[in-house]
Amino acid sequence: MFEFADWRKILMHDHPFGFLLEVVLRTVIMFLIILIALRASGRRGIKQLSIFELVLIIGLGSAAGDPMFYDDVGILPAFVVFLVVITLYITVTRLSDRFVKIEKLLEGKPLYVIRDGKLLMDAFRESGLSQDEFFAELRLRNIEHLGQVRTVLIETSGEFSVLFFADEEVKYGLPIFPDELQNRLNGKENCEYIACAKCGGVREGKNITRLTPCPECEVCEWVGASNAKRIA
Ligand SMILES: [Zn+2]
Repeated sequence: MFEFADWRKILMHDHPFGFLLEVVLRTVIMFLIILIALRASGRRGIKQLSIFELVLIIGLGSAAGDPMFYDDVGILPAFVVFLVVITLYITVTRLSDRFVKIEKLLEGKPLYVIRDGKLLMDAFRESGLSQDEFFAELRLRNIEHLGQVRTVLIETSGEFSVLFFADEEVKYGLPIFPDELQNRLNGKENCEYIACAKCGGVREGKNITRLTPCPECEVCEWVGASNAKRIA
């Protein structure tokens, strides 16, 4: 006969209490797997959450939800999952505060993607961002072309730190707003400076035709370079 609120079942389903120890072990293993998988994805944090905080959220997410409506999941094992995940989180956070090496291993390090107005292609690839996503982030900071930016650093949280050139230092650079960026040169225009649409490298416009490959990345897609000052 169905009994409402059978507490032994609500807490443990039909597992013995010793199962809780196994839950501890399973949680530690899954925690490590989530952490390694997220780090291996190359992706930085998502909007102010570091990789490590994401691990916490994913680890707790299913443990919190499942016992709410799966009748074969007891509350106590889920509660043990919470304890273990939070203990691991606190322990590792303390360790990484004390040891820089552990912090780098867990969260990665900040990544320079633009230095002195130049896009660093290797670092950019390492960031796991697409060019679209990257330029969108820059546009949101009122950046019109790459010649306006001295430094872009992607923090471990995935946020961008940006330093600008002073007005008189602004160089010619690749325009990053879609209208200008998609306006590929066909060789008949007369631009003083042109920029590679892939790597942002800037050249003098004369003697370069539509089919001249970029000396840095070998792509043949050129855009008129801009040296507009930044008005923000
Ligand atoms: Zn290029």
